[in-house]
Amino acid sequence: MLEIRFHGRGGQGAVTSAELLAEAALTEGKHAQAFPSFGPERRGAPVTSYCRIDELPIRLRTNISAPDIVLVLDPSLLKTVNVTDGLKETGTLIINSQKGPEHFVHNHKLHKIATVDATGIALQILGRSITNTILLGALIRTIAPVELSSITAAIQKRFDQKNAALNIQALQQAYQETKILNMPDYPTQENQFADAPAATGENAPVQPQAQSLWIELELGCLITNPGNSKTYYTGSWRSFYPLLNKDRCIKCGICWILCPDAAYTQDTEGFYPVDLNYCKGCGICAHECPTGAITMLQEKEAGV
Ligand code: SF4
Ligand code: SF4
Repeated sequence: MLEIRFHGRGGQGAVTSAELLAEAALTEGKHAQAFPSFGPERRGAPVTSYCRIDELPIRLRTNISAPDIVLVLDPSLLKTVNVTDGLKETGTLIINSQKGPEHFVHNHKLHKIATVDATGIALQILGRSITNTILLGALIRTIAPVELSSITAAIQKRFDQKNAALNIQALQQAYQETKILNMPDYPTQENQFADAPAATGENAPVQPQAQSLWIELELGCLITNPGNSKTYYTGSWRSFYPLLNKDRCIKCGICWILCPDAAYTQDTEGFYPVDLNYCKGCGICAHECPTGAITMLQEKEAGV
């Protein structure tokens, strides 16, 4: 049995990835499962989804804790989520990254590491940072748990004609551009996840250790203490950040009103600077700003 775990963010299509892969396996006469595991069900929040594929009926119904393959849809997850947790020594790690796979050599004895600039392909072809089908292209290139034609058929079944064509184009580009490192050919090095991307911008970086954990919540998950949202640093969910052009800002406050994470406050000059500890990078402020004063920029990966 092949067990595959996807790490993404709410809105990036991690759940759809697992479902498309399972659908492709089913069309090949295999047995398959696909299911998600959510934390906070919000755009930008870390999401995990799972897929099992086997020639025989699958009776397991648990989350996948020792995957054969891990796919990381967003490189910013590397600084907050232990994506290789439980990954088998014979396993494969596939990451959305502008870096080559050698940058992610882990002291685990993995079988393969692969990278593809899925965000770049998504922005170029889809016009937005939805990387799920693109990572499937990298998966087929690296391991091929199903045929490329089975995945494209699943995409055609799932999306309308226009979106299916765009997603298949993006998937095929990822298939061509995926860089693969066969680990048995490569000397083991120290874990290099320590140089994962740092928060960008003028504000202090996110401090993940300051986050409250779900296990600390009261029974029923009621949070009764006032002002508690300050302890939830949703800035760790961000892969794009807003940049303000003060020359175009008319101080209308629409960004402040509409930001779902209250990341804006007004300063003494009447401008609205963003606190990147809380900005989750959804882009609503940039979309709604009437003068186009806000531009969303991709977080830089360290060392690129
Ligand atoms: S919405 Fe745009 S113009 Fe209005 S305060 Fe925010 S940045 Fe300035
Ligand atoms: S609305 Fe803007 S500031 Fe608020 S979370 Fe979204 S991107 Fe960040």
